[in-house]
Amino acid sequence: MAAKLRVLFVASEAVPFAKTGGLGDVVGALPAVLKDLGVEVKVLLPYYGMIKQGSLPTTCLAEDLEAGLGPLRLAFNLMTPTSPDYPFYFVERDEFFERSQLYGTPRGDYFDNLERFAFFSATVLPVCEALAFKPDVIHVHDWQAALAPVYLKQRWTGAEYLRDTRCVLTIHNLAYQGLFARDKFPLLGLDWSLFSIGGLEYYDQISLLKGGILFADAVTTVSPNYSREIQTPEFGYGLEGVLRTRAGALFGILNGVDYREWNPETDRLIPAAFSRRDLSGKAKDKEALIDAFGLAKDRPEAPILGMISRLADQKGFDLVAEVLPELMARDVRVVILGTGEEKYHRWLKAEAPKYPGKLGVKIAFNNGLAHLIEAGADMFLMPSRFEPCGLNQMYSLKYGTIPIVRATGGLADTVVQVDPAKGAGTGFLFSDYTPEAFAKAIFTALATFEDQKLWRKIMQNAMKQDFSWKVSAQAYLDLYKRLV
Ligand code: ADP
Repeated sequence: MAAKLRVLFVASEAVPFAKTGGLGDVVGALPAVLKDLGVEVKVLLPYYGMIKQGSLPTTCLAEDLEAGLGPLRLAFNLMTPTSPDYPFYFVERDEFFERSQLYGTPRGDYFDNLERFAFFSATVLPVCEALAFKPDVIHVHDWQAALAPVYLKQRWTGAEYLRDTRCVLTIHNLAYQGLFARDKFPLLGLDWSLFSIGGLEYYDQISLLKGGILFADAVTTVSPNYSREIQTPEFGYGLEGVLRTRAGALFGILNGVDYREWNPETDRLIPAAFSRRDLSGKAKDKEALIDAFGLAKDRPEAPILGMISRLADQKGFDLVAEVLPELMARDVRVVILGTGEEKYHRWLKAEAPKYPGKLGVKIAFNNGLAHLIEAGADMFLMPSRFEPCGLNQMYSLKYGTIPIVRATGGLADTVVQVDPAKGAGTGFLFSDYTPEAFAKAIFTALATFEDQKLWRKIMQNAMKQDFSWKVSAQAYLDLYKRLV
């Protein structure tokens, strides 16, 4: 039997340890599916305060290892969950990672994110040595780990444990590049010649993600459509040229859904299970959702439109703001769960009292409530300006909560426009990023909802969709095999 392929994931979040968005879902789910395909996977994460204080006990594997931050050698401990079920490893250096949040507060990013994540990337080699693990592939995620491929090609060329190691970078969101002031460049421990157009420079700043794009052996992003979009000025954030030079090594692999977590038939976080064949539980979940958000109970048949989102410009809240008055004049309920930028916190807190009993808002990160919205709502809103893949629309499909989405990125890859005449399709799409186009899609959905027989057919179509990880994990495995 051929030796197992060995892969080291390097990422800044993973369910169930730490999550701010889709990245955490992906890094939490993909390793287990790859393991089922015969790959030996280990995952490296920072040891955040929330992991340290979390419910899963951890053990120290090695103390006082060292990694470089510019000219400095800094110590860290290597931790792992005590339970052998999780092949996860954590970099413990409290100065950098013992904080309440992962990257910053609603007011802004932590001032030392470059130090934090340059150091994290630099721990890859000492961690492999400490674990006596020789990865065939290092699979790094987003800017927080994007220096690892640069170090692999520039600093670790003679390292025994990383000889012949290949590197894959997955971009989960090109909007977050890890941009830092040039005067921090010496902290990267790289030659100044790499601070150039052909290196990590981005308009006189450092772009960690650009370094990863240039030095990884392959670059992937999380949907086929987004992999094409980011090679254009509209979505490329100035990196479209660099991405085009890597077009031969750039692939779009759609994220999968972890149906162990997101399946209405087995979901332990919702009051009533339901399935395609028996939808009765969904009505009970709707009642619970009405209670949880303090909505009026007088018209349970009125549709509930849900949103679960980071509160960031990307997610289209300016469109929601424009459409809201007209929408709230209808016989509908709207629930919004999110955290993020402070300006959106203020806006939502001001809107909710204008529509008592009709608009429910929770400024929180709450996984239980996210599941309840998916289960209890009738429709799900995702008017994103751009969307690398998007997971919530796929969760919504599984829960028969019909998505209303902008036709961009992974949303366009996963939602099929409803055709009432044929009873076909799984959701409602709009193209132009305008309130009018968004409103039209919503009102088309509301009109369709009135025909409950047709609506149930659309729910059936949606719930039949299968975006499980199997196909995508196989695509990653094929890519690893091509590289080694
Ligand atoms: P992104 O990664 O851009 O935030 P995705 O749709 O890919 O968007 O993934 C978002 C993930 O984060 C989903 O699992 C979603 O349920 C979850 N999520 C986002 N905001 C919240 C919140 N306020 N509470 C609970 N879960 C949230």
